[in-house]
Amino acid sequence: MNQRVPKREDLKVFITSRESKCDECKEDLGRKAWITLAEDKGALCLSCADLDHLVFLPSGDAALTRRARKHSNLSAVVLKWSKARKRYERQGLLVEEPALKQAETECLADEDARAQRRIREADRRAELDLAYIERFAEVIQQLYPKCPPKTARSIAEHACTKYSGRVGRSAAAKALDEHAVRLAVVAHVRHAKTQYDSLLMNGWERVEARLSVEEAVLSVLAKWQGNAGS
Ligand SMILES: [Zn+2]
Repeated sequence: MNQRVPKREDLKVFITSRESKCDECKEDLGRKAWITLAEDKGALCLSCADLDHLVFLPSGDAALTRRARKHSNLSAVVLKWSKARKRYERQGLLVEEPALKQAETECLADEDARAQRRIREADRRAELDLAYIERFAEVIQQLYPKCPPKTARSIAEHACTKYSGRVGRSAAAKALDEHAVRLAVVAHVRHAKTQYDSLLMNGWERVEARLSVEEAVLSVLAKWQGNAGS
């Protein structure tokens, strides 16, 4: 039975201040990991919470934030505990990359916004380890020869963003093994090619939402493996 609760409330992501561990995949996330907290499920890494494909937009530009949030099917507020002020403080928003691009385009009428975008893009690129991205994309193409190279590259970039700054080094190395790469591809397909994100945003449980889009995901994967209807 699908318990559909219509709502439009931002999900919350916390930047922890101590060593933490994901209660689902049991990964050691190190300090300052980005996690979600759920009453009954404990702490989840962004990967297990299905938020790791989102890009981070730091607070500071109200118009851009408002537009990016509006265009994003799935968004999450990023909060960090302030020891000095003894409360959670908003760091920014996690949004879908296309939503951010669209919001930036809309804000571009303004020359200042254009300069801001250059800075943000440089920051984002600086985070990425190019060699790592290439290796990751190669593994994707081995496993899914018919996956468009641009898509493989973009999946690899997201994986890399995730492993720089959000989890430790050993987790990053492990992410290149075949199983982990498959998971990254499945996550991408779910988010990009199905209505999964809208379901989550509408209050569906992850398990139910996954079941509901499973067939659509498998059909894309079969196509990318090169064995769909041939
Ligand atoms: Zn996890």
